[in-house]
Amino acid sequence: MYEYDFVVVGVGPAGARFSRRAAEKGYDVLALEQGTVGTPLACSGHVSTDVWEFTGPGARAELFQNEIYGARFHVGGPRSDAYPFYKDEVASNVIDRVGLDRHLADLAREAGADVREEHTVTEVRERRDRVEVVASGPDDVYTFEAKMVAGCDGPRSRVRDELDLPEPDELLHGVLAFSEEEDHQDFVDVHLTAPTFFAWRIPRGNAGVEYGLAAPPGVQVNKHFEELIDGYEVDVSHRCSGAIPIGPPERVTTRRGFLLGDAAAQTKPFTGGGILYGMTSADHAAREIDPDRPTTLAAYERAWRDDIEREQSLGHWLRRAYSLPEPVQRIGLGALSGKIGVHMDRPTSLLSRDHLRAMISRAFR
Ligand SMILES: Cc1cc2nc3c(=O)[nH]c(=O)nc-3n(C[C@H](O)[C@H](O)[C@H](O)COP(=O)(O)OP(=O)(O)OC[C@H]3O[C@@H](n4cnc5c(N)ncnc54)[C@H](O)[C@@H]3O)c2cc1C
Repeated sequence: MYEYDFVVVGVGPAGARFSRRAAEKGYDVLALEQGTVGTPLACSGHVSTDVWEFTGPGARAELFQNEIYGARFHVGGPRSDAYPFYKDEVASNVIDRVGLDRHLADLAREAGADVREEHTVTEVRERRDRVEVVASGPDDVYTFEAKMVAGCDGPRSRVRDELDLPEPDELLHGVLAFSEEEDHQDFVDVHLTAPTFFAWRIPRGNAGVEYGLAAPPGVQVNKHFEELIDGYEVDVSHRCSGAIPIGPPERVTTRRGFLLGDAAAQTKPFTGGGILYGMTSADHAAREIDPDRPTTLAAYERAWRDDIEREQSLGHWLRRAYSLPEPVQRIGLGALSGKIGVHMDRPTSLLSRDHLRAMISRAFR
């Protein structure tokens, strides 16, 4: 006799979304979060407006901070030339990321999932007919049995290690900090000053301004970050940091286990963003996986790759532009900047009618 259909490890966006969808289908779901949902913060919460398709009533009023129409790219620091890329309509939103996680976890609870905080998973044992998940709770150590385990436990996934699944190709190191300036501008700034990646400034309305930077291991991230802050001449506080996995890995499923979200490196290689890809993949998992039929895991593996793997491949190509010599970057940015018709989660939309129309109208301006 199984205790649960699914034990979900980690209640970030991917785990909360999968828990909600699986519970809505009538499955018994236990979701374990090592700390308090949403904390510690290590994310900008800069997302496409598609995010509101994953939330419940009242979410926008509760979580929205600012709307963004485009990005100003800089080859150097704050005083260097800006190359704007923008849309006529809102391209993205800046939202309260801690609040988002809590909201999504509440939706999972309302759907019937048993969400437990302060439970750290330390061991996963995959048997032929079940999985055993060992978690250390506030008062005791528990072993839960389930038909399947979902590893939604972020970039340094314990479940991934326990199931012997491959690591992501790369783990970038991201840092963030906030100043108290109130800023309702509708552009973010992107500085191609960090080796192979970038630094950023995000206006968050009344919630201040966020400064951040990400780069591969071995790069002096803190030194580059200090240069960014010095360049803007601001005081920042609430520093935080996190890992950004870049993939995709070869395999994210075993006989009775699967990974979702950052654990599966379901992120955009050219921005590191993973909130939308993680939740989209969670929907594929909830639709395809039947806990009584382990072979359905192959359908999940196919579904998420069919949906986002091409976007990830193109995202890798876009990222290569961050490493071009500065003069080439200037020429490229100068030639391409202006109005665009690209969806921030879908690099393939570079070939869309909207984008081509924007490029053509610019050429005849
Ligand atoms: C600096 C930085 C900025 C970013 N900015 C953006 C952005 O603007 N937009 C965007 O889309 N993405 C951004 N990202 C990426 C985004 O944060 C991730 O893609 C997203 O959080 C992935 O969601 P997830 O649910 O897969 O994992 P997570 O959000 O990492 O959630 C995993 C959860 O699992 C829990 N957990 C871990 N181990 C265990 C365990 N052993 N037992 C129980 N629970 C466990 C963790 O506590 C956590 O709550 C950023 C990342 C960084 C580092």
